Amino acid sequence: MGNRLTTMHYSTMASQDARGDSVRFQAILIERDGAGNIQPNYTKLREAQLPPAAVQVQIQYSSLNYKDALAITGKAPVVRRYPMVPGIDFAGIVVRSDAPDWQPGDPVLLNGWGAGETHWGGLAQRAQVPGDWLLPMPPKLNARQAMLLGTAGYTAMLCILALEDQGIAPDAGEILVTGASGGVGSIAVALLSRLGYAVIAATGRPQHADYLRGLGAKHLLDRASLAAPGKPLEKARWIGAIDTLGSHTLANVCAGTRYGGAVAACGLAQGMDFPATVAPFILRGIRLLGIDSVRAPQALRKRAWERLADLLTPRCIETIGNTIALQAVIPAAARLLAGQVRGRLAVDVNA
Ligand code: NDP
Repeated sequence: MGNRLTTMHYSTMASQDARGDSVRFQAILIERDGAGNIQPNYTKLREAQLPPAAVQVQIQYSSLNYKDALAITGKAPVVRRYPMVPGIDFAGIVVRSDAPDWQPGDPVLLNGWGAGETHWGGLAQRAQVPGDWLLPMPPKLNARQAMLLGTAGYTAMLCILALEDQGIAPDAGEILVTGASGGVGSIAVALLSRLGYAVIAATGRPQHADYLRGLGAKHLLDRASLAAPGKPLEKARWIGAIDTLGSHTLANVCAGTRYGGAVAACGLAQGMDFPATVAPFILRGIRLLGIDSVRAPQALRKRAWERLADLLTPRCIETIGNTIALQAVIPAAARLLAGQVRGRLAVDVNA
């Protein structure tokens, strides 16, 4: 694979590996007691505890996604088996591989596939995963930039690809983004504006207005105007939308979509329900596009990551995110679910 690390860099890591099972690494570990209580801890694990899989990766950066925050706080049944290392994404360097496509020194990234849900994930210094879960690091990105974008950025790109595939072009009209100052929302606003779309950013945090305008939002909308039960059809305003909230917001987003428009639905930050009517679908011919990042095929992932790397400058990526240490992840998860995090949090697992 391209970008392989130099022999000198790799030999530094390999010498750590020579200690075999005695290698200890830092991780977040979520355990469940007999009464069903969830307890996340920052701890040390042994390499021998890693789940068996073809490729071992020395992780450089992971990130804190909404789903990770749900797993760490136990607020939703994201974790399917315990104990679990959370973290649905990571970027790092292959240290050992039985998979033909990967060799020690390859820079790689991973999103989804059950990492942090059914298989130990990225909020650790080591992971062991099947080779076909990994992607090569796009040459234009380093590990930190890739995780500042993370699954949120890759999902924002999947939403835009889906709108483009439906023929929603920049000259067709305005595009609405909900949850705009969150991770998926911020990156969607930045990507859409770079592609020439006029973006309406819906947010509940007017204090981030300058941030959203800086990312390229043309108009701001108070998220409260979309949050309560609405009419089957509202005044048609946007030709496309990226919705991260679900529930009444998604219903109102559909009700306000112009004739022939499309809505990419990727999230449930307001709720998992969808209290809508068929009116926008059968009277305005709008399309609802479901977006899943976890099991998306590799060809689509590559397409999304290459577009992300081409569209966003390092400066823009820095604007959208901050970096925290692994020790800071557990308190940050509660802040993220309380809506107190702006943009993205990359996690430096070696800090
Ligand atoms: P963040 O927490 O970073 O952002 C969510 C944003 O939604 C917040 O910043 C806030 O934006 C808004 N928000 C939060 N709570 C509420 C609420 N109760 N009512 C209305 N608005 C609210 O999360 P992400 O951007 O990382 O993820 C967003 C959603 O997308 C999540 O549900 C996540 O699970 C989902 N997702 C799905 C993926 C997929 O594969 N389908 C992949 C990645 C994410 P503001 O303050 O601007 O209003």
